[in-house]
Amino acid sequence: MSQNNAHYIDVDAADLRTPGSASAPSIRKYRNYIAGQWCDPLSDDWFGSVNPADGKVWAHVPKGGAKDAARAVQAARSAFASPAWRALTATARGELLYRVAAVFESRIEELAHIETRDNGKRLAEVIPQLRYLPTYLRYFAGLADKIEGAVIPVDVAGVFNFTRHEPLGVVVAITPWNSPLMLAIWKLAPALAAGNTVVLKPSEHASISSLELARVFEDAGMPPGVVNVVTGWGFDVGDALVRHPDVAAISFTGSEIGGQTIAAAAAVDVKRVTLELGGKSPQLVFADANLDDAVNGVASGMFSALGQSCIAGSRLLVHASIHDEFVERLVALMRNVRIGDPCDPATQIGPVATQAQYQKVLQFIDDAKSEGARCVLGGGPATEPRCQGGWFVEPTIFTDVKPQMTLFREEVFGPVLAVSRFDDDAQATLLANDTRYGLAAGIWTQDMSRAFRLSEQIQAGTIYINSYRHVSMMSPVGGFKHSGYGRENGIEAIKEFQQVKSVWIGLQPVPNAFPAPAV
Ligand code: NAD
Repeated sequence: MSQNNAHYIDVDAADLRTPGSASAPSIRKYRNYIAGQWCDPLSDDWFGSVNPADGKVWAHVPKGGAKDAARAVQAARSAFASPAWRALTATARGELLYRVAAVFESRIEELAHIETRDNGKRLAEVIPQLRYLPTYLRYFAGLADKIEGAVIPVDVAGVFNFTRHEPLGVVVAITPWNSPLMLAIWKLAPALAAGNTVVLKPSEHASISSLELARVFEDAGMPPGVVNVVTGWGFDVGDALVRHPDVAAISFTGSEIGGQTIAAAAAVDVKRVTLELGGKSPQLVFADANLDDAVNGVASGMFSALGQSCIAGSRLLVHASIHDEFVERLVALMRNVRIGDPCDPATQIGPVATQAQYQKVLQFIDDAKSEGARCVLGGGPATEPRCQGGWFVEPTIFTDVKPQMTLFREEVFGPVLAVSRFDDDAQATLLANDTRYGLAAGIWTQDMSRAFRLSEQIQAGTIYINSYRHVSMMSPVGGFKHSGYGRENGIEAIKEFQQVKSVWIGLQPVPNAFPAPAV
């Protein structure tokens, strides 16, 4: 472990062992945050964080492994038992979270630039997202002392029964690359408000903002070990965290396959698991919809964050009578968007976050073409000079997408919209539900009885009617079917990190009788 306690050191880019062309003469070499200390990975190895806008390494990420995972879990376990955390009242825990919110608020610009460099998301989208997070932290800070047990009027004479909501212990939070800070706060705020301690493992593709987040917790005065951050690959440090016997729960956001693997591994020790996975969310547009609203809502619901959003409305289902007009208007809206540098305020579409994801998106486009879908917009890499070197894909729209096609069934997590047509409400519902996912759905109609009916029939954790993509800390988010289980946000979120204990008190002398009366 390093002697000094800086969260990164500047090193000469030429001295770094990890391959990749650096974009600056010196580069930040980050450290993990364990037990309130900034420490080098025990492997003494790092890997590059690549800026998707120019394909260059801009920082170095600790390559954590099983030993780092064990240290972080040990730190979280000790902190969970320590009076510095365990003896705090729920109100005092809330006050700590208010301090975290204040420190976070003072660093939004800096954190936003780091996140954009890490994952290529447009600064214009990241800044508003981060500005909301202090409010989010304050919501859970306020909730910390408002989760109450109950006195149960049990049907047993001479006893008193009540319930307590207790923390689980060490929670492992695993996040993806698309919105690292937001998704980390979604987990950490309720987990800490509930009294747990946490090990955060961010995506290997966008780790730096989560290490900076650890510094926010440190500067806010969080006791050592309550929040720990270790970085590295999912199959390595991530897997070791999931399998560690001292971990009580795992809160995971990421791919379907990642969730399946984690749930299977967690089952061995009967750990609690929350899974927020992928989606192939439908947007249904009926003939009576306000088409101006629907065109704008479908475009932003699909192409915001370049479609790299779990709730991206990536299947557009349009009534046959308005199909051609609707597609024409959507294509006209998206045709002239500006693609480029995610830090440029004029940019409307930024780069894909990783090279692997870029290749995957292009493969989906090729498959859609070869399976017979009709490409009516985009369909390849963006070729403007300002896009050279980065991983830019044109916003792409396919029509005539049939349910058996790959594009109808699989999550692209990129800017590719699949359009299909329907003739009536029954067919619209069938198509909407013809997916193994169930994260979100949009319904565009002026007929509210139809909207209510469909909101009941469509199998998804979030239904938007004449809107899309709203999120609030107060409203639960989560999936049906293969989109996962458990809920984030709202009061449900804090309960995911608590267990209920039932306490019985005898009020009368125990009768001298054996066996005890039958229940
Ligand atoms: P991913 O599953 O590849 O990785 C997510 C995280 O899990 C990373 O930190 C990774 O290192 C870790 N990981 C992967 N396999 C692991 C394992 N076996 N054990 C432990 N850790 C493991 O996902 P991604 O590519 O980073 O993110 C994109 C996916 O996330 C998409 O499918 C998207 O829909 C989903 N997502 C869902 C939501 C939601 O709220 N439902 C939000 C954002 C993203």
